[in-house]
Amino acid sequence: MLMKSTTPMPPDSTDEGTPVSVKIRERLEQARKRFHSNDNIAEFIQPGELEKLLDEVEEKMKGVLDSLVIDTSSDHNTHNTARRVAKMYLNEVFKGRYVMGPTITEFPNAEHLNELMIVGPITVRSACSHHFCPVIGKIWIGVMPNEHTNVIGLSKYARLAEWVMGRPQIQEEAVIQLADLIQEKTQPDGLAIVMEASHYCMAWRGVKDMDSKMINSVMRGVFLKDPTLRREFLSLLPRRD
Ligand SMILES: [Zn+2]
Repeated sequence: MLMKSTTPMPPDSTDEGTPVSVKIRERLEQARKRFHSNDNIAEFIQPGELEKLLDEVEEKMKGVLDSLVIDTSSDHNTHNTARRVAKMYLNEVFKGRYVMGPTITEFPNAEHLNELMIVGPITVRSACSHHFCPVIGKIWIGVMPNEHTNVIGLSKYARLAEWVMGRPQIQEEAVIQLADLIQEKTQPDGLAIVMEASHYCMAWRGVKDMDSKMINSVMRGVFLKDPTLRREFLSLLPRRD
């Protein structure tokens, strides 16, 4: 979410002219926090800074267009492209880096549910951190609750997935990040995630293969120990072709 501070911050004489990205980076380094492409850095961004970051990214994108020798001043098609791309990155496709996670209310498992539960397919959109090309696919989540497992609403799984996928990702790391998050929120006996996605860096460039999909999975707890349960989960997923 973009937040504009209502009262302008007092000018800081020491860092006037310092790009906002540098200030955020300094805070991250001071806290010794990792800021890889698929890390969320929301807690290091102060109110109003996302707007400034947008201006900064726009300027840099203009530079990229200049270096691509595109006459953005007379070409009506690309005149506002730098701004559009900056907005797309910060407010849409990579939003999951810059905003806090969705608030999820957890409820105690009052019904003592202990049956395998499957959520999916959840449509996910991301971009690969190698090429910044779209990654579009589906996720299925299997949860094996116990009496202490917290229950979260079905739509919340999609919200969590959207937040994790809204960063430049690597599919293998994305499913692990999502698994860690669901594990932390719900504490189930077992957790299984399967992700199947098309990587546009394979379709648009590279080998230009339109049909190849990458499938990977994470199995935790009882899904890891119990092959029958794992088979049951996989057999309940719709046939993927
Ligand atoms: Zn790629």
